Amino acid sequence: SLTAGVVAVQGNVAEHAAAIERAAAAHGEDVTVCEIRESGLVPDCDLLALPGGESTTISRLVHDEGIAEEIREHVAAGKPLLATCAGLIVASSDPRDDRVDSLDLIDVSVERNAFGRQKDSFEAPLSIDGVADEEPFPAVFIRAPAIADVGDATVLAEWDGRPVAVRDGPVVATAFHPELTDDDRIHRLAFFETEDSLERAPTETVSNGES
Ligand code: GLN
Repeated sequence: SLTAGVVAVQGNVAEHAAAIERAAAAHGEDVTVCEIRESGLVPDCDLLALPGGESTTISRLVHDEGIAEEIREHVAAGKPLLATCAGLIVASSDPRDDRVDSLDLIDVSVERNAFGRQKDSFEAPLSIDGVADEEPFPAVFIRAPAIADVGDATVLAEWDGRPVAVRDGPVVATAFHPELTDDDRIHRLAFFETEDSLERAPTETVSNGES
């Protein structure tokens, strides 16, 4: 059985927990989700979500609580992390904002609140590399960042000519909020369809619990 952590210092925690549970069930995995508000829990987690919210607050709290270094070690060990919206900003190598002390986990620079005030929130149908494409992904953007420069990361999706989803090793990051719809394809991609987990599972059939 797997342990999932949702960094819960601020932001959309319950929604990520529910999406992780659905994605795990779709892959026949048992998962226990715990909320991370203090240090000492991340080392027990097999996978982690870093939710949206407000990036200056999240970055300050993860550093103050001693969680920042544990998240870095999690990723350095090759374990999956899904960072969404403000989580993308916090995980980036360059948040282009001195008030965000970012974790340098994805080699991208970001532009906060890049999609304009009159479009504070919108939904876009995205085609995402690695996500089964029978229908577009309903991506909810809320005061979303855009990805500006992409270094070593791989772009998975674009909207309006800008990258909005990337992968960098074990990290998948989105400018939008995949936890706010009941579509869990991004959570499956980030956590259960990584190169490592695909090597473990046979293609086509997904094992139902025992691996
Ligand atoms: N605008 C927020 C920030 O820059 C991110 C918004 C979100 O996570 N929905 O921190």
